[in-house]
Amino acid sequence: MDANAVDLSTCEVLDDHCHGFRVEDLLALDPAGWEDRLTMMGMCFASSGGTDPGLAAQVAALRDSTMFALTARRWLAAYLGVEPTAEALSAARHAAMSVDPVGYISALMADQQIANVIADEGYPQPTVTRAEFEADLGARVHRVARIEPWIVELQALDLAFGDFEAGFERRLEEAAADPHTVGFKSIIAYRTGLDVSDPSRPEAATAYESWKGAGWPKDRGPGKTVRDWLLRATLRAAERRGKIMHIHCGGGDPDIVLTHVKPSDLFPFLHDHMRQPIVLIHSGYPWLAEAAYIASILPFVYLDLSEFLPWASLAIDGALETLLGIAPVGKLLYGSDEASEPEVFWVSARMTREALQRVLSRAVERDYLNVNEAERLGRGILAGNSKSLHGID
Ligand SMILES: [Zn+2]
Repeated sequence: MDANAVDLSTCEVLDDHCHGFRVEDLLALDPAGWEDRLTMMGMCFASSGGTDPGLAAQVAALRDSTMFALTARRWLAAYLGVEPTAEALSAARHAAMSVDPVGYISALMADQQIANVIADEGYPQPTVTRAEFEADLGARVHRVARIEPWIVELQALDLAFGDFEAGFERRLEEAAADPHTVGFKSIIAYRTGLDVSDPSRPEAATAYESWKGAGWPKDRGPGKTVRDWLLRATLRAAERRGKIMHIHCGGGDPDIVLTHVKPSDLFPFLHDHMRQPIVLIHSGYPWLAEAAYIASILPFVYLDLSEFLPWASLAIDGALETLLGIAPVGKLLYGSDEASEPEVFWVSARMTREALQRVLSRAVERDYLNVNEAERLGRGILAGNSKSLHGID
């Protein structure tokens, strides 16, 4: 074996960002569309509520020219011991899922040593509870509680500002009291953008009345002031209760407010909360270097690596070099953003383990690290960093 080779083959994995599923919902989906649901575009089409048949046909037509889809097909076919064709793989996978879905999913997780996941319960809706997901997954599931579904619930109650605020605070406290909750999550990037203002309470109350009076429009008007106020309230609760804040940062599905989601848009907010751990979910992808730079100067900004992992496929090694080179590696947290099918967990963990071995081996060749240091850093990214940050043993 090459003396510079970094071996992470026996490392346990903690996936710090994913979404729950129920086995019965997976079994109800059209098996013919399964491969489409594995790709970034296919998953985004579903998560943005896509139903347009013309768009669905184009998503399917692009599958055989999408690098991630071709890699996933070949790797999963080898795992299941069938020919690497769409037909053979889909049939084998459908058979395995139909006979013993929980056994099949647990085996995928065990094969990649994925022992823990942190599930963002805000998607899909209605929420897949932590306990339901854990029963179907075969790995320990920890919770991050997303604030935006609570805002929707409270809007429907047509409350005065004080009651709205109290209802929001009560939900924060209830979530924090659950021993399985490791953090709070916001997708304000999908609502009014990451350029979060710092309104006073009277400003938030006035904006709330205008927003409610106008029928809760989804624009950057008074609703933005209220959402910014609620996000700051969430940071206060996270600090009080010792929970970690996860904030979606960067691109996402087609519903994203793409003009206001760069890491630099969030910088003033991060600067205001400099002493508090905040995870930038997706590392600001595709603005990875910007997020890495911020994590290199603000001590408590952490980076979740999901989204470019696994879907950037061939571009993953370069992206990891950027992040590992710029930010302290102890702040990098593995995640897959699985949001559709269980195989995403498996493909993503394998792709990441192999990419990290290559990137860290090159760091050893170039004499930035010795093999022991490289393997320690790799183990940290795959699980250890997230465990320490979120208090998972
Ligand atoms: Zn996600």
